[in-house]
Amino acid sequence: MLTCHVMELGEPDASGRRSPVDTGKVAEVAADTVITAVGEKVDTALYTANGLEVDKRGKAVVNGETMESSVKNVFVIGDGQKGPGTVVEAIADATKAARTIQDFDVDTYVEKNVNDDYQAPLAKRGDVCTDCKNCDEIRCLGCATVCETCTEVCPNRANVAVAVPGMRMRQIIHVDGMCNECGNCGTFCPYDSRPYKDKFTLFWSEEDFANSENEGFLKLEGAKTRVRLAGEVKEYDVSDAGCGLYDPLRRLICAVYDSYTYLLP
Ligand code: SF4
Ligand code: SF4
Repeated sequence: MLTCHVMELGEPDASGRRSPVDTGKVAEVAADTVITAVGEKVDTALYTANGLEVDKRGKAVVNGETMESSVKNVFVIGDGQKGPGTVVEAIADATKAARTIQDFDVDTYVEKNVNDDYQAPLAKRGDVCTDCKNCDEIRCLGCATVCETCTEVCPNRANVAVAVPGMRMRQIIHVDGMCNECGNCGTFCPYDSRPYKDKFTLFWSEEDFANSENEGFLKLEGAKTRVRLAGEVKEYDVSDAGCGLYDPLRRLICAVYDSYTYLLP
């Protein structure tokens, strides 16, 4: 049971702002797990008591690349380092620290763990078991084989995994018109890629195409398609296998035209 103090807005202060004041009443909320996420303040006293260097604002001084503090092997991340922030920022810090702590090399990890059976890990995605007590299944999602993280962390669904006939793995395309460049996908990509800049991009208008430097494509009449690749802009009839466009890209574009028409303007 969580016991809460009931608050109400008090009188305006000198700046006109009304702060919450305790009414003296309490309310109880049934709960079996409580996760506090209320924007904690940085606990400077804890750091100084343990010999960590702090800056003028009382925040632990860290190496921005590794998040290691002035005390060797002590790492400070997220709200504990910067003050109240977002979950994404905390995870980004944690990734840096974890890589340093474990000397984690993503490429080696993938090499060791990649699964020839692409469909098996793909089928597990979105199927999350919550019956942990009675479950002895290995719940590894096989992310060394299927990543697609950028499709899941985008709040706007602007990265899409496209199944291309004849290709073993789904291919990621970026949809320019749905992206507000929040950078989330870049933060979470385990390969330090920026999918919203680096992934082959579907454009919705000539103007959007012209205003971007992303490699990508714009649908014109029928199968006629404007493509920017390696800095060059050319037009192709992608229904023609001999049109001269790099064939895997031509097939990717055709797959979008054939099976993902909802992505088109
Ligand atoms: S940068 Fe664009 S594609 Fe990436 S997560 Fe944000 S909105 Fe989505
Ligand atoms: S771009 Fe990055 S996040 Fe997206 S699928 Fe590739 S490795 Fe994963």
